[in-house]
Amino acid sequence: MAGEGMFTDIPVEIGVVFEGERIRKQSMHAELGGPSVSEKFELLEVVPSGDITDGTVHLIGPDLADMEPGTVTPFAIHIRAAGASLEGDMESVMERRIHDFCNWIEGFMHLNQRNAIWLRADKRSVGKGLSLRHVGIVLARLYKSALPIIDEIEVTLITDPGEVRARYARALGIYEQRDARSRGMTDEDVDVFYGCSLCQSFAPSHVCVITPQRYANCGAIGWLDGRAAARVDPKGPIYEIPKGECLDPIAGEYEGVNLVVREKSLSDISRVQLYTAFGYPHTSCGCFECTTFYVPECDGLGIVNRDFRGSTPTGLTFGTIADSTGGGRQVEGFHGLSYEYMRSPRFLQGSGGWERVVWMPAAVRAQLKEYIPDGLRERIATEEDVTSVEALMDFLRSREHPILSTREQAPAIPESVEQSPGRAVLPAKTGAGQNPGTGVVVTFRNVTIRADRIFVNRKMP
Ligand code: SF4
Repeated sequence: MAGEGMFTDIPVEIGVVFEGERIRKQSMHAELGGPSVSEKFELLEVVPSGDITDGTVHLIGPDLADMEPGTVTPFAIHIRAAGASLEGDMESVMERRIHDFCNWIEGFMHLNQRNAIWLRADKRSVGKGLSLRHVGIVLARLYKSALPIIDEIEVTLITDPGEVRARYARALGIYEQRDARSRGMTDEDVDVFYGCSLCQSFAPSHVCVITPQRYANCGAIGWLDGRAAARVDPKGPIYEIPKGECLDPIAGEYEGVNLVVREKSLSDISRVQLYTAFGYPHTSCGCFECTTFYVPECDGLGIVNRDFRGSTPTGLTFGTIADSTGGGRQVEGFHGLSYEYMRSPRFLQGSGGWERVVWMPAAVRAQLKEYIPDGLRERIATEEDVTSVEALMDFLRSREHPILSTREQAPAIPESVEQSPGRAVLPAKTGAGQNPGTGVVVTFRNVTIRADRIFVNRKMP
């Protein structure tokens, strides 16, 4: 805790107790990065010893006290670390700890990762004197105390928009180099996967299972990163998962994965299938870069990314869909994803892969164009093509999307059926006349129904 030991010079408390603290707009003093800022990033690089001065904190741009209350600004955190046993492979995992350590600061919130970071400082902590320089000092000390493998560390915080912009492209290039390292490896090539429980402070039953062909949901940790982290700190939040027997090669179910996920989720989750959005999908915390959403009218999947500001054809925004997806649950059809997993040949192979995808934002479709199979790319609608489910269905028909080859044989869903994630609300009478008792005909295809409780009540005359 702050005020004691290593943080006596910091004006707010420091401790794990503040993890999970949310700062609402009304109580924020400043927002650093976030969805309304296009350029923001965090980056940790391993550098040769001697290139940095240990413990130095640089601030480029105004500090919190210089900002008007309610300020929203581009932001970057750039950490450089050196150590005799540090390897470049460990950068991603060490970088991900920025999330934990920032969240240990009272009145300071950190969400997401890489170039999606979103931080807030609250008015009360800034009123107590919290500055970005303090944030840098706390990061440097927590890194050295949690990861003794680091001998020297230097932290640079940037709020100057021009400086963030000048360094942004380089950060994106480094992320891409890291992601590209394990492309070409397959899940059959290895005997162990890696698990990560770093997000359990927000989603207690969530465990990321990281394989060569299934990058972590946050997009920040791949199999090689997991291997480096588990080697350095085998008792840490990233650990080996011996694969064990493969129970289902298409859906991606492994005996060893089930065992470890059951243990780490305290038996909340007993089965996980790695390559599917249905059945027993991989859990989602809240850090996913993108998420799928189910489109019942065509039995297809939409994909929406965190930066998408509009509504999907179902009328739901990323935020609403993310609420249905996250929290460490298994929600069929609502499935957190990283961009890198969408580049994988295993991408949702148990749910039909790319042939199941019917909608995605134009920016994401363009970003992944070389990974979407030929002949399918232009059959996936974007917000530039459709803005409603009806228009989506017309689009899919006009482009002969393969999802329709099975779907079109099914009866149309009545117009008066109201749909929302995980729920279909049927009106009392549709006037269809096929069922004299209710006037409703319901057709389910390829559906799994799970209910905690069912109530059957006699209808009184
Ligand atoms: S999203 Fe997964 S891999 Fe990324 S930090 Fe959270 S638990 Fe770890």
